[in-house]
Amino acid sequence: MLLQLLTFLAYSLTATLATSVLNVGSGIYDVTGPAADINFMGYAMMGQVGKGIHFRLRARAFVFESTVPTPPLNDSRLFAFVSVDMGMGSSAVTNRVLELLDAEPTTTGKFTNDNVCISGTHTHSAPAGFLTHTIFQVTSLGFVKQSYNAYANGIAQSIIKAVANMAPGRVFLGQGKVTNANINRSPTAYLYNAQSERDLYPDGNTDKDMTLLKFVNSDTSAPVGMINWYSVHGTAMNNTNKLISGDNKGHASSLFEKDFNPVGTLPGKGKFVGAFAATNLGDVSPNINGSFCMDTGLPCEMEHSTCNGKNEMCTGRGPGKDMFDSTNIIATRQYDAAKEIWNNAKEELVGPIDMRHTWVDMTNLTFKATDGTMKSTCGAAMGYAFAAGTTDGPGMFNFIQGSNTSNPFWNLVSHFLSKPTQKEIDCHHPKPILLNLEGIDFPYPWAAKVVPLQLIRMGRFFMVSVPSELTTMAGRRMRKAIADEVIAQKLTANPVVVIAGLANEYADYTTTFEEYQAQRYEGASTAYGPNELEGFISQFKRLIADMAAGVESQTLPAPPTYLSKQISLAPGVIYDSVADGKHFGDVTVQPPLTAVVGEVVSTVFCSANPR
Ligand code: ZN
Repeated sequence: MLLQLLTFLAYSLTATLATSVLNVGSGIYDVTGPAADINFMGYAMMGQVGKGIHFRLRARAFVFESTVPTPPLNDSRLFAFVSVDMGMGSSAVTNRVLELLDAEPTTTGKFTNDNVCISGTHTHSAPAGFLTHTIFQVTSLGFVKQSYNAYANGIAQSIIKAVANMAPGRVFLGQGKVTNANINRSPTAYLYNAQSERDLYPDGNTDKDMTLLKFVNSDTSAPVGMINWYSVHGTAMNNTNKLISGDNKGHASSLFEKDFNPVGTLPGKGKFVGAFAATNLGDVSPNINGSFCMDTGLPCEMEHSTCNGKNEMCTGRGPGKDMFDSTNIIATRQYDAAKEIWNNAKEELVGPIDMRHTWVDMTNLTFKATDGTMKSTCGAAMGYAFAAGTTDGPGMFNFIQGSNTSNPFWNLVSHFLSKPTQKEIDCHHPKPILLNLEGIDFPYPWAAKVVPLQLIRMGRFFMVSVPSELTTMAGRRMRKAIADEVIAQKLTANPVVVIAGLANEYADYTTTFEEYQAQRYEGASTAYGPNELEGFISQFKRLIADMAAGVESQTLPAPPTYLSKQISLAPGVIYDSVADGKHFGDVTVQPPLTAVVGEVVSTVFCSANPR
């Protein structure tokens, strides 16, 4: 009997291997870009320009293909997910990536907006200037072509490598918790959510869950790649940092990849690729020791995050002795959790793979809300608390209230700001409008109107791509609404839903309607008004219904990238030289001939400007 059982087990294992329905591949490529003189994306702080590299930035790509057609759409299904060490996705970058993929023989005709998701890890220490809407270019003094090209080329190359590595593979789903690696930076806004809803989440005011996909080769069982999603901002490196860095997510990836690539493999050069991707991190900070006043050392006033009424002095603190140490600690806690989840990930996802994509005008959306009433979004606008910033980086946008500033880009464009109409004021209530972004097209639109939304399915795993930073409760509400709709549409009885955050474009933050009433930074940055979250949810319900019915989803045309109109005021390198009698490349301090592991080795040489 025992022998028969063993024979049967051996037979079914062989059968599973022989009928592998998925091809998977992973690829990694450098996206570091200009390493000096260029502003960093995230803190919106003019003086925070690059002066070197902490560690390099990378695009991590994963390609999945179902070899079995998904009825009733009669074709195989191919999909690429890319997690990139950059502030956020950008539809202009995606557009260039697709052009580059089409120009490459091995990927020609394979990828469109429908089957590529590019999600930024939200590091705040990576070059800016790659978004093509005006508001995101103020501190980078406009568009920066070098940043844009580095991201687009690197992302395209990572996908090309992933396609080249594609082989029969198996995908496993794992879930677990990360402890002591995040904190809510707007806890008073979170309390605006109903007690009954908060009671549904015993983890409290941040998500502790990590959802992980594990990829192995079907034939050899060799590890191929890993993606996980866990909520935390890329702000362990603070706004005094001037070294390009992938922050906690990028470092966690390097730690994980080191374990699965041969000893001695240089970072970013191994075949195994592990991504720590962004999700609903809107109000979630890695500065877990809380926020304190820099002058007095006392905790900040909670409601407004101020010290003696001023926000500039209130700053979050990480767990380490400095920001490098804090980055390492927050990365290591995610890495440790991911390792444990990886080891226990035994549930196999075999498909079907399916996907939907749509372009939606978020400035003009009327829809049926969850409570059955009709609701609408508003034209994009930012509230006053947007200028105040967060405890991860106090406000540096205060200058926008002055008429003449030291910022030439702002001086050029600020005259075109429009006054909100009474209708716009009412729509955004109670947000007091500081910047009315609607209807200004000079030099190009100030904010995105039409944004990309995407739904991906692999078995009972569902991922939605959102071009926004959802808060903890906004994310929970969205995941629940999507799971409920997937069940109602009978796609599967037990869905696992993740949100790919900051994906494919950037349209600021999304809070719940209740948190919006608090008008902290995240509510002030919820660009399309109090019903934005419900608007997004209504569109995902539409995509789920289309998927269940097996029909294509309706969409607006892709919006223009405005690339030909971009203004760039960041000066180039005008003059570069070395000291008298020296030449570029001369070594003035040689490194030691021998060193032991752990020792710091230094050398000094004459470099050109690293930009
Ligand atoms: Zn953010």
